[in-house]
This record gives sequence, structure tokens and C-alpha cells, in this order.
Amino acid sequence: MQPLSTRTEHFTDSVIRRMTRVSAKYGAINLSQGYPDFNPPSAILDHLAEVSHENFHQYSITWGAQNFREALAEKQSRLMGRQIDPNTEIVTTCGSTEAMMAAMMTVANPGDKVIVFSPFYENYGADTILSGAEPIYVPLHPPLFNFNVVELEAAFRQHPKALILCNPSNPCGKVFTRAELELIADMAEKYDTYVITDEVYEHIVYAPYQHTYFATLPGMWQRTISCSSLSKTYSITSWRLGYTIAPPEITDRIKKVHDFLTVGAAAPLQEAVIPGLRFGQEYYNDLLATYTRKRDLFVEGLDAIGLQHTVPQGAYYILMDISEFGFDSDLEFCEVLARDVGVGAVPGSSFFREPVNHLIRFHFAKRDETLCAALNRLETIRKKIPARK
Ligand code: GLN
Repeated sequence: MQPLSTRTEHFTDSVIRRMTRVSAKYGAINLSQGYPDFNPPSAILDHLAEVSHENFHQYSITWGAQNFREALAEKQSRLMGRQIDPNTEIVTTCGSTEAMMAAMMTVANPGDKVIVFSPFYENYGADTILSGAEPIYVPLHPPLFNFNVVELEAAFRQHPKALILCNPSNPCGKVFTRAELELIADMAEKYDTYVITDEVYEHIVYAPYQHTYFATLPGMWQRTISCSSLSKTYSITSWRLGYTIAPPEITDRIKKVHDFLTVGAAAPLQEAVIPGLRFGQEYYNDLLATYTRKRDLFVEGLDAIGLQHTVPQGAYYILMDISEFGFDSDLEFCEVLARDVGVGAVPGSSFFREPVNHLIRFHFAKRDETLCAALNRLETIRKKIPARK
């Protein structure tokens, strides 16, 4: 038999999603793969029930149902402060996962370089490999996860085709300041580089931090592909609804890539979520208030146990320092944590390019009672996982 593709030879599965299976195996409270254990808004669920008996069971327009794109364009035009054209500037995708992949395939040729900040959401590594591109990693230095301008410019000097910007950032919770984004914008302009954003946590930015859409910076609209999703905003991660927003010339190409990759996102779900896209600002304020409370609850819980951790500015992840346990492998630590303490986490090494293995990631998109139950279990962590010398 001939060998399978070299491109996929060194692929591992997603460790994030593997940890969900590990959690299930041990009956652990799953704070690994980031998704809520509470319901989406009832207006969306009610509409889902209604549309199930309507005529939405066949393909929608490949780049997204007309109604969906119009509602989305209205919402994003308001937030991004420019008129987004639902027909020529939006492609509806199967989650931001597909949006990012379609964006990469649209922009990069095999051999092209792409800047990725590290730590990074693990899909970006796979996206670059699948599109034949080569990642250049630029570290975000803990504890504040700032980048070094000299290191960033050194990466730009290699003439990358694109930079991937996850803002707010998974897993480190960084919210890029306007000044930092302007610095990136200057370099993108100077070195003629596309910027592919992942802004799925756009509505989960804790005070006093604020989200700036990269595409809204002066001159950046024409070189930015904004990717996002409805998963986190409306707590519907399995609906796989995402999108790209980009100028017509780029969108035209993304439409074709998307058409051949997946044909389209689920039509009934695009229809069902429309009341959500039409929610007023109050919904987003409530969402943020909910996540702020959950963040504080979880952070205070870890503090009470005396565990060291980051405090996110955005998104819903916390990195916890496990140095005191003396493990050589954070992957092994997470397996032991799930088995013996009963809490699922993701080893930090799956996010860092650098040899970092003293951090693990928890998410707190869970009901308060789930978070309290997890904290109760974590109180026993030092007894159940004795420190290794
Ligand atoms: N973004 C989520 C996380 O980092 C999960 C996304 C996914 O598994 N598709 O856990």
C-alpha cells in the first residue's frame, strides 16, 4: 500500500477534544474543552422548534441563508461601525473552525509563511499544515502575555503571507490593546500581510478591557478576514455556525473554497438563530455579567485553595500553574487530575510552541453549581496528587 499523505503524517488528534473523552472515561467534571453546560437563550430554542416544521431542510445558498446573512450583517455593521454587505462581504461557515481553514486556504500558497502568536488555539497549527503553509511562532510572554516588538518585526521580515490574531485570546485570556493592534496593523501594512482574525470571544471581554475589531483599524479593512462564530455568544457550540467577513474580492474567493469544503452550514439552524442575531445590547450585557460572575467565582475558588493561576481579560479560560506538583509531563498531570481528583483540564503544552509544561487550562463556561462542584474536588488536589520530588 502507498503511504498516506505526508501532510497529515505528524498530525495528533486535538488534545482539547481528547480531554473531553478522558473526562468522560473517568466521570470527571469536564473543564477541558470550552463549552457551556447551560441552555442557549429560549428565544432561539423556541424558534428552532418552529422552523423544524417549515421548509428549511434542503441546502441553503452555499455562502449562507439570505435571512441569516442579513441579520448578521445588521448586527456586525452596528458593532464594527461600517456597513457590511450581506451579499458580498459575508460567508456563513460550519463554525469558526471552517472559517479559519477557508481563510487560510484562500490566502496561503504551499510554502507561504504565517505568523501565529504562541500560546495559540491548537487548530491554527493544523490549519497552516493543511494549507501547506509554514507557521512562524511569535511568543506572548507570560505573565502578561505581551509580545516583543523586535520579535514580531523579525517574524514580519520573513515576509509572511498572513498573521493569525486570536483576540480575545484562547488560552491566555489576553485582550489586545488598541495600541498593540495598531502596532500589528503598521507592520501588516509595511510588509503587505493579510490578517486573519479569530474573534469568537468578542462579547466576552471583562471590564475595563474593550474589544477592538482589527478590521476597523485605519487601512485594515482591505487586508483583514474577520472570522467568528455564534457558538460562544449564544451557547450553541454544536450548531457549527460561523462566518467570515471580508472585502468583496476576498469574500468571492472564500465563497468558492467554502463551497467545495462543506457546501454549507445547516439551514434550519441558520434560520433558528436569527432571533439571537436580533437581540439588543442588553443580551450581550447580561452575557458578560454572567461570565464575569463565573470568572470571579472560579478565580476566588482557586485563590482559596492557594493555586496559582492567570486572571483572564477576556474569553473563559484560566491557566493554572502546576509546578508545585513536580510532574515532567502536563499531559500525564491532566490524566491523573481527571482520574484521581475528577476534574478535566487541557495540558498547556498543547497551546505553546515553547517548551512550557507547567500550566494547565480550565474553562469556566459552566453553571455555578458545576464550578462549585469542581472547586470542591480541587480542594483535595494536594492530598490526591502528592508532589513528586
Ligand atoms: N474553543 C474551544 C476550546 O478551546 C473548543 C473548540 C472546539 O473544540 N472546536 O476548548
